[in-house]
Amino acid sequence: MKKNLSTNGIYIGVCAAFLVLTVCFHIIVFYHTENPIIRGTAIVFSLLVLLLGIILILLLKGKLVAFSDSLNACIDDIVNGKEDVAFDLESETLTGKFNYKLQRLYEIMQNGKRQVQEEKQSIQEMVSDISHQVKTPITNLKMYNSTLLERHLMPEKAWEFHKLMESQIDKLDFLMQAMVKMSRLETGVITLSVSPAPIYDTIGLALSGIERTAEQKNMEVNVECDSAIIVPHDKKWTAEALFNILDNAVKYTPSVGKISVTVECWEMTTRIDISDTGRGIPEQHYAQIFKRFYREDEVHDISGVGVGLYLCREIISKQGGYIQIKSEIGKGSTFSVFLPNERQL
Ligand code: ADP
Repeated sequence: MKKNLSTNGIYIGVCAAFLVLTVCFHIIVFYHTENPIIRGTAIVFSLLVLLLGIILILLLKGKLVAFSDSLNACIDDIVNGKEDVAFDLESETLTGKFNYKLQRLYEIMQNGKRQVQEEKQSIQEMVSDISHQVKTPITNLKMYNSTLLERHLMPEKAWEFHKLMESQIDKLDFLMQAMVKMSRLETGVITLSVSPAPIYDTIGLALSGIERTAEQKNMEVNVECDSAIIVPHDKKWTAEALFNILDNAVKYTPSVGKISVTVECWEMTTRIDISDTGRGIPEQHYAQIFKRFYREDEVHDISGVGVGLYLCREIISKQGGYIQIKSEIGKGSTFSVFLPNERQL
């Protein structure tokens, strides 16, 4: 109502201005001449101008109303969250230009909405994964605890139960730490600080984590890496990613097996190969083993929760890199980590 009044007010104002100008024009003409032909011509001329003005104003009004109606309809659709808003993209007209900008704005809004939904879904999945994962150790802990409370066990038997409880507590602790890392990496709370550094040092850091277990299993570990190779990377997180691969190499390789690490610096990327002589991975599992909490059925007797490779891929891809696998059942696996030689963050 208010919009119509003000728009009409403008038209009335313009018409009144036209009328005032016409009257002034007549006064001037009538004042300067008494010639009836000139006076008559002036009247006809001003009437024609007035008529033309009214036609122009009506045309303009029609255009303006159509323009504001189309904009209103578009904005209403956007506000009401309609999925397929029809944008009037007439080229080179004012409506077309406005609609184009509205469409861009709408796309930005839709992308934001989609991103929020995806994040919400990923958080929901993570929460359900976490609750599923912690269920087993908690159930086990409850069972061992009630056995200890209800039965009078011999000290040796009780000690066994305490040891079992300890392993479940360790599993919960490991799960919690991994989940904190995962959620921080996924939500961007942790930002990797990538800077050029010798990859040799980072590999050394990762290897120090498996030293003891590899020794216990009598495994041979060989490293082939030029200490002069400089790669832009986050030292702490990359060492963690490499450690996860090395840790698996130790876990899934029988005693007296071999692990080798070789580094090659190419033009665009640096390739780090971590090979073992372990049980191998079937090709159809290559993609799955990087999924959160995925473990192959065959390894259920070996400790693990299935987050090592998931975290590893997150860390490497956040630095612009990627991981490839090559494996042969019963012979061993090679995990190749590719890191870009140019800073990507
Ligand atoms: P976890 O080792 O805790 O199970 P990971 O995410 O590190 O979790 O690995 C996922 C799965 O990939 C493992 O459960 C195992 O089945 C397989 N895997 C990973 N590395 C190797 C390897 N070097 N040799 C054989 N299998 C492997």
